[in-house]
Parts: sequence; structure tokens; C-alpha cells
Amino acid sequence: MKKREFKTESKRVLDLMINSIYTNKEIFLRELISNASDALDKLYYLSLTDNNIKINKADLEIRVDYNKDDRTITISDNGCGMTSEELENNLGVIAESGSLHFKEENSGQDDVNVIGQFGVGFYSAFMVSKKVKVESKSYKDETATIWQSEGVEGYTLSDSTRENIGTTITLYLKDDTEDYNYSDFLEEYRLRNIIKKYSDYISYPIKMEVENSRKKEDSDEYETYKEVITINSMIPLWKRNKKDIKEEEYNNFYSDKFYDYSSPLKVMHFNMEGNVNYTALLYIPSHAPYDYYTKEYEKGLQLYTNGVLIMDKASDLLPDYFSFVRGVIDTEDIPLNISRETLQDDKNIKLIAKSIESKIKKELESLLKDDREKYEEFYKAFGMQLKFGIYNDYGMNKEKLENLIMFPSSKDKKMVTLKEYTERMKKDQKNIYYASGDTVDKIDMLPQTQSVKEKYEVLYLTEYVDEFAIKTLHSYDDKEFVNVSSENTDLSTEKEKKEMEKENEENKKMLELMKEALDENITEVKFTNKLKKHPVCLTTEGEVSTTMEKVINAMPTNEKINAKMILEINLNHKISDKLKELYKKDKEELKKYTKIIYLEARLIEGLPIDNPTEMSNLMCDIMASK
Ligand code: ADP
Repeated sequence: MKKREFKTESKRVLDLMINSIYTNKEIFLRELISNASDALDKLYYLSLTDNNIKINKADLEIRVDYNKDDRTITISDNGCGMTSEELENNLGVIAESGSLHFKEENSGQDDVNVIGQFGVGFYSAFMVSKKVKVESKSYKDETATIWQSEGVEGYTLSDSTRENIGTTITLYLKDDTEDYNYSDFLEEYRLRNIIKKYSDYISYPIKMEVENSRKKEDSDEYETYKEVITINSMIPLWKRNKKDIKEEEYNNFYSDKFYDYSSPLKVMHFNMEGNVNYTALLYIPSHAPYDYYTKEYEKGLQLYTNGVLIMDKASDLLPDYFSFVRGVIDTEDIPLNISRETLQDDKNIKLIAKSIESKIKKELESLLKDDREKYEEFYKAFGMQLKFGIYNDYGMNKEKLENLIMFPSSKDKKMVTLKEYTERMKKDQKNIYYASGDTVDKIDMLPQTQSVKEKYEVLYLTEYVDEFAIKTLHSYDDKEFVNVSSENTDLSTEKEKKEMEKENEENKKMLELMKEALDENITEVKFTNKLKKHPVCLTTEGEVSTTMEKVINAMPTNEKINAKMILEINLNHKISDKLKELYKKDKEELKKYTKIIYLEARLIEGLPIDNPTEMSNLMCDIMASK
């Protein structure tokens, strides 16, 4: 028996594993099964070119056994095996370990986040074992060898009498502690679950002896018996031919994997070949998960390489605005030991992410074109996310998303896209008009909306992100977005405008007096002829609209902003005559009237009233004086 020491850096990784407090210790099984699967691959490919190696592909398999009395788990394969030198070189040394580098760069941090994000390999066995024994016979060697180690002290090599080619790894589990129950791994259901979870799509059977029960013949009693079964399903759904997959299978896979029991709205299954190769099985859910619009929601796709799960939620594969997409990516073009940290810098991951993004975009565009009803269902669930996407990152992605958004229209209150809107614009129309408010009905009744919609179509913005997105877009197809409540929105003719200017000039003194009666947010009071039947409205001057004021002031920050507002009074309404009359007779009364109509205008806009008592007192005063 030969005693050997580990190389220094291997010692350190080993030390990291042994003392790991990482909660995901269960991944040791994934790592050992992946190694076994690689060894089977190697032997199989060798057999294709080397006539001396005779194997039957159907015999290649992985076995997992456990023994409660000995507290051992064994993982065996009939793959290529290792010679004594290979055992030494492969298991005694860690050549280039991602985890080690990461650990060095981040020394001081605890291990919790370090391990498990890597393909930590064979050494992960030491997270759960006090002793590891590897017995192996290589296809190219006559003799077999046993490699054994109890940790950093080193390892021993000794001869074995094993005759079959392949490798058997025996893990002697650690004793249970207050913090961790290692015995759990000796339970059949636990092992089965771990295998299903991480290694379901390994392409060789993973066999295990399990306990079953059956009804005894000629009796109502049951008896238990043992049988060896294959735990993994072996062929991943995404690797199968699209033509052979039923909708039900896609849906079952979706609900199994992503715990959503309503059917997905859309399934995307495709292979990409080119600069980078991958297979994708993506789903667009039919409704937003309950936590979708919260910080708790985690975006990401499952990342597999060669059927082995590498990461559960690889967030770098999806842009935020498509964060609702769930699914699986399988690629051979990334290193197995990729981590969350190295993922974002990986060239191929970037290529895949880009390609996925354009695929999803195209899919949504064709859904919009071909199945309007479904698209609107999708939009109801996730439209807000698209609008956030336009607004976020300083509008960097607005061009990508502008054709995917839609708003209710004044025309029929149905949804309209920007493209549809501009295509049916009137010849003389230069701008895209919008109005915002709490609900479609409320917006529809706004005086400003009423006056514009008679002439042109108006988009109704009801979600708080809407106006921010519109402002970020600024224009679509060279047509600028214009708020109907903006002071500049005046559809009257030049002649009418001139007349109004004259009217306002003549009543300047009175309008100024009225302005003084109001709070400082009112920058001007003026007459207008743009309102049809309505007596008053509030319009805004500058960038901040009243809706934006509402949204920003509702945010949990101390920053408060005030839209600059103009109180406009319909010159053709009786109230204007009354005001003019009061100006001559009773200036104090005029102030009261002014306050009331201003507060009314705020109510119409859905803005809060600071002092409702004052308003009701004023009204009662006036009513009583009649
Ligand atoms: P990795 O698999 O990332 O290379 P590991 O530490 O898991 O790193 O394994 C080191 C090497 O040991 C493998 O590359 C492989 O050559 C060899 N090896 C591990 N397990 C087996 C096995 N079951 N059969 C044959 N070779 C193995």
C-alpha cells in the first residue's frame, strides 16, 4: 500500500469541502453521477474506433446503492475506469479549479455561496463523507486499484482484485451532528429525489434497488419485495423530436418543473446551431405568478449541459423585460464548472442570451400578428413588464419593445398598438395623443379628453408606468406623443386662438386676482374655448403631468414634486359670465368661487384635496347666500 499526500492546492479545496457548511450538500450525488456518465461516454466512444473494446451500449449503466448498517452509499459505473496512475493524477490533484480561484479572490466570505455554484467535482464527496474509497479498473489495464482517503491527510493506493472494467465509489457518511443529518442520505426516497432532481436526463440508466409492495396471490394481504429500477427518465423532453411530442407532454413538463398548474400560453422549442449551439424549451406562462411584480421573483432559465443541470435559475440568460419566460437551455458550449459569477462573462452565454432574446421577441411579435386574443391575454399579465423595459436603463431597449406595447383607445376602448394607431392617423394629424388617469372610464370623461377625442384618437394610459414609458419613447414613427392635458394641446384654429388671447388680455387683472387666491402650484388662470360642455379643467405646463405627480408622490421617498398647473375656464360656459360679474361686484366672493372651481378641477383629475373641510364650507357659504 502506497501512502501519498495531496498537492497543496488540492488540499485547500478538499479542506473547503470537508468543512463546508453549505446547505446543498446533496449535490455530491449529481457530481459523482456526472463523472460516471462521462466515463460511460468515454468508453462508448472508444469502442466505436477500437476493436479491442467490445461493449454493448445497452449494458452501460450507473448504479446507486446504500447500506444503512454500514452507513455507506456506493456509486458504480461500467465506464472506462482509471489506472493506478490516473487515480493518482485525477483524484490527487486539482489542476485548474474554478472554486479555488474564486475562493482566493473572495477570501473572507463564507463558503455558503462558493460551493454548489461550481461543478465542484469529485471532491464534493467529502462534504458528506468521512472516508471515500474508489475502486477502479481501466479498460487499458489488467490490474485494478483502490484509492482511499479520509481527507486532507492524504490518500492510499492499493491493489484490488476487481475484474470488471469500471469504477465503484464508496462514501462512508459522516456522523450526524446537531446541524446536519447525514443519515438522511440513507433513505431511499431521498436518494431517488436527488437523482430525479439533478440527473433525470443523464442518458444512461441510473439504477437503484427499491422497495415495492404487491398484493399476495389469493389473499388481500400485501407483501414488500425488492426490485432494481431505473430512476431517471433518460431522454430529456427538449432533446426529443418536436414532431413526436404531444401538447400534453409539454404542459406536464411545464407544471412539473415550474409548479404552475395552468397551461402555458405558448411553448417554444428549438435548436440553434451556429456560433453557439444550444437547445431551448421555453414557456410563456398564461398568467403572472403571484410574486411576479415583487422583489421576491427570481428570473432565469434552467441551464443544462449535456443533460446535467448546472444552474437552476441562470438569470443572465434573460433580459429583465422578458423575465416572465420559464424554461430550459441545454448547451455543450459552456464549461461544466461555470458559476453565477463567471456566467455573466462567458462569451457563449452572452451569445445564447442574445439569441434567446431575439427569439422571444419574434415569438411575441408573431403572436400579436396571428393570435390577437392570446396576445392580449399575455399583455394583460406581462404588458407592464414590457413598459418597464422601455422606461428602464435610460430607454436603452425602447426600440426593441415599442412594437409590443398597446393601450386602450378612445375609438372603441379596445387595445391598439402604436403601429395601428399611426397607420390610421388622420391626414392632418401630427401627434399621437394620450391621456392618463386611474381607469379608462375616468379618462374618457376628462374634459381635455372629450375635446381632443372628437377630432383625433386618444390613447388611454391607466397604469402608473405608462406615462413614464411614453415619455421615454418620446416619439413613435417620428410622431411625438402629446398629453391631452398639456397646456399646449390646443386644437383650435389660429383665428380662434387669437380671439382667446385677446379675451385673456382683456381680463388680465381679474385672472391675476383669481390666481392669487389659489396655491402656488397654479401658475396661471385663463379662459379657454377648447372645452365643450365642461366648465373647467387643469392642464400642465412642462414635463411633469398630474398623473406623474401622483405616482412620484406616492413613492416611499421624501422627494415630492408638484406639476405646474394651469386652471382653464370654459369661456362659453355660464360660469365665465358669473365670474366676470363677481369681479365687478364682489371680489371676495370671486375668490371663493375660484377656490371651489379649482378644487373641482382637482377632483376631476383624481388629485387629492388637502383641505376638504374648506371646500365644503365654501360651498355651503355660497349655497346659503343664494
Ligand atoms: P472533472 O469531472 O470536473 O474533471 P472531477 O474532480 O470530478 O473533475 O474528476 C477528475 C477526473 O477524474 C475526471 O476528469 C475523470 O478523468 C476522473 N474520474 C472521475 N470519476 C470517474 C469515473 N467514475 N470513472 C472514470 N474516471 C473518473
